Amino acid sequence: MFDKVLIANRGEIAMRVVRACREMGIKTVAVHSTADANAMHVRMADESVCIGPPPAKDSYLNIPALIAACEITNANAIHPGYGFLSENARFAEIVTAHNLTFIGPTAEHIRTMGDKVQAKKTAKALGIPVVPGSDGAVLDADAPAIAAEIGYPVLIKAASGGGGRGMKIAESPDVLMEQISLARNEAKSAFGDDTIYIEKYLSTPRHIEIQVLCDMHGNALHLGERDCSLQRRHQKVLEEATSPALNSSQRSEIGEIVANAMRKLGYIGVGTVEFLYENGQFYFIEMNTRLQVEHPITEMITGLDLVREQIRVANGAELGLTQGDIEFRGHAIECRVNAENPVTFRPSPGTIRNWHTPGGLGVRVDSAAYAGYAIPPYYDSLIGKLIVHGRNRTECLMRLRRSLDEFVVDGVETTIPLFQRLMQEPDFQNGDYHIHWLEEFLSRG
Ligand code: ADP
Repeated sequence: MFDKVLIANRGEIAMRVVRACREMGIKTVAVHSTADANAMHVRMADESVCIGPPPAKDSYLNIPALIAACEITNANAIHPGYGFLSENARFAEIVTAHNLTFIGPTAEHIRTMGDKVQAKKTAKALGIPVVPGSDGAVLDADAPAIAAEIGYPVLIKAASGGGGRGMKIAESPDVLMEQISLARNEAKSAFGDDTIYIEKYLSTPRHIEIQVLCDMHGNALHLGERDCSLQRRHQKVLEEATSPALNSSQRSEIGEIVANAMRKLGYIGVGTVEFLYENGQFYFIEMNTRLQVEHPITEMITGLDLVREQIRVANGAELGLTQGDIEFRGHAIECRVNAENPVTFRPSPGTIRNWHTPGGLGVRVDSAAYAGYAIPPYYDSLIGKLIVHGRNRTECLMRLRRSLDEFVVDGVETTIPLFQRLMQEPDFQNGDYHIHWLEEFLSRG
């Protein structure tokens, strides 16, 4: 097993990786920018290295500094967490070229899935259902015929897209060319690439994603789904596992399709295959080749430690599990607690004066915050994840409600009041929502 792992990340996810390493007897190296010198992930790790000034491009994205930090600390492997360099194929190649292990899939798989047109082609070839649409990039001259065949409304998407940018809806043929031109301009300025493709626009789908876990020996398992339909500006706000929309045979069916596809691909490590789900049909949208923010809800219902498994398989171990060993027990929900105004969502950086987290049976808080912590303005506004497990969805909701009431954060505004409001909503209580539901709820005021 690795002797020492360097964690190329910060905040709660860096702490999550330290915890898994500790339980495995692996030493840890934290890295930090000058803005994070007092951060909890730095204090928790065995060693730490300052890798640069506050802006992420000079520190957490600074590849030479990260490699140098491995060299001076004798770390054997790098865990990238999520965000930052976690889906950077070039980084994975550089890590490997320095005789270090990248805890994640191969650079080739990261690259394939990072290109949306390529990812969709690959998924389709592996037997994963995809959104009906153009077969790859679309030229202006061919667009009207392609869109007519798909059927309106259509969605124009940027091949290099991310974060919902470069995406435009065309409701009818008379606005198609105008929307394509808007999408191209947005994509050009955001990604330096104006390649677009066209898809059928689904009106009120759910976002349902399948977690996979694979080793280097041809074993590929699915760990069920997460329902991440509660989103604001394409950002997930609350996630639940299992999905209120699926039964166990639907779960096994899509899970097996995805696990078989990953086996054929030779995928290694953890990954998530994301779908839109409408009228009983799954439509692939993208694959994330990393650990996700919402991974704990899968851990709560399967009892598996996904970070431990990631580290084991990166070191060449066999999973030692079969699909039949994976049981889905109870229900779990995660709330992303952000330091933001719960109505305007404006970031609320500042110093946390009081920090009291809920506890008790089935309650988990993954966070790097503490009383006295000054939230730096340079990074994202996630200050903690409240994860609650119950024997069924009803118990989980009651537990979540009382946990939100116990959570005290003073000094900065948080999204906790938003979750408290959500708990009162019959649609949410009934699990009856889709990807636009939250924005509709918020616009009602
Ligand atoms: P990005 O990488 O830019 O986030 P995705 O392909 O993951 O783009 O899509 C982001 C979000 O856009 C989805 O979660 C969904 O809300 C919406 N979306 C994507 N494709 C479609 C589609 N064909 N129909 C309707 N909504 C879509």
